[in-house]
Amino acid sequence: MRKFRTDLHIHTLLSPCGDLEMSPVNIVSLASKSGLDIIGITDHNSTRQCELVWKLARNSDLTVIAGCEMTTKEEVHCLGLFEDFDALHVFQNFIDQHLIFIPNNTSLLGYQLVVDEEEKIVEEIENYLGSSLNVSIEEVEQKVHELCGIFIPAHIDRPRNSLYSQLGFFPPELKVDALQISKLSDEKSIREKYQISRDISLVKFSDAHYPVDLGKTYTYFEMENPSFIEIRKALHREDGRQSIIP
Ligand SMILES: [Zn+2]
Ligand SMILES: [Zn+2]
Repeated sequence: MRKFRTDLHIHTLLSPCGDLEMSPVNIVSLASKSGLDIIGITDHNSTRQCELVWKLARNSDLTVIAGCEMTTKEEVHCLGLFEDFDALHVFQNFIDQHLIFIPNNTSLLGYQLVVDEEEKIVEEIENYLGSSLNVSIEEVEQKVHELCGIFIPAHIDRPRNSLYSQLGFFPPELKVDALQISKLSDEKSIREKYQISRDISLVKFSDAHYPVDLGKTYTYFEMENPSFIEIRKALHREDGRQSIIP
C-alpha cells in the first residue's frame, strides 16, 4: 500500500469566487508540481469544468475525481464526488432542476466561466452558482448515494455555510462518508467539540480558490491505488485502507 497526497476540494474559475487563474490547464500543472497525487474538482453547484480537468490529467500521474460543492436549502456546503461521468451528468441534471435562479452579477459576484484547453471561454453561466439548491441536506445526500457517490459535508467547523453553523447538530439520518474540517483546525479538538464518533473519518482539503492555495492542504490516503473505489474504502477504513491528516 502507498500513501497518496489527496485534495478533494478545489474550485476552478467556474466558481464565481474562483480566481481567473484557476483554469483546468493551470490546476493540473500546479497540482502535479506541488506533489499532489489525487485532486477533486468541486465548483459551487456545477460540475461543468470537471471533464476537462480529468482529460488534461489523463496521461499523467495525477488522478482527477469529478465532483461538486453543493449548497443545500439550509445553506450547508457539502461535497459530492462521483466515480464516472454518467453519474456526474445525472447529478448535474439534479442541480439544474433544483438550483434557485438568481441572475449572476459579474461585477458584484464574479465571473462563472467554462473554458477549453486553450483557455478560451466556451460558456458563461448565467445562473448565480453561489445560490442554493431548493432541497434539504438529506435529499442531496440521498441523491449522491443513489449515484454511488461520496458525500462529505464541507468545512464543518466554519462559522458560515457549515453543518454545525446552519443546523446546530448532526442529523441522525444523514449518512456521511467523511467530514471535512478547516485547514487550521486540530482533529482531536474538533472530535471533542462536536462529539464526532471515531467511526467517521475527518479529512482536510485546501478548498483552493487561488493558485497559491494548491498543494498546501491535503490528506494522505493510504491504499492500493488512486481510484475512486479505494478512496471510499480509505474513508471507511476498509481492508486496511485509511485516511490520515498529516
Ligand atoms: Zn464551502
Ligand atoms: Zn469550497
